[in-house]
Amino acid sequence: MPDLLVRVDGTAVPLSDCVWVMFRPCGCPCGVLTAAYGDIAHATEAQAWHEFFPTKREREKYQRQGLRLELMVFDRYRREIDLAAKCPHGKSATTQQTLDAAAGGQAGGDPS
Ligand SMILES: [Zn+2]
Repeated sequence: MPDLLVRVDGTAVPLSDCVWVMFRPCGCPCGVLTAAYGDIAHATEAQAWHEFFPTKREREKYQRQGLRLELMVFDRYRREIDLAAKCPHGKSATTQQTLDAAAGGQAGGDPS
């Protein structure tokens, strides 16, 4: 598959160098999805939402809660995002466990 180029922070980069990071409403990251691997590409935010949460009901629920997705290059993810850090903003309705369960095998952990 030829590399899809996406524009991130004003620069065109291969989609395969990017990850979708999911943020809680408080701003803490709570999940990550490799944007492209093999023949799979999640080029749009809608596609990434669908990969995190296969059902419309889940997507609408989490979008209502204020979760958001941001596409960023892998280097920036490595520098800035620490999924192991504990959210200091109090108890969230969305736990890491529910995200991991919903995201399945391709999301979470180190996407290298
Ligand atoms: Zn937080």
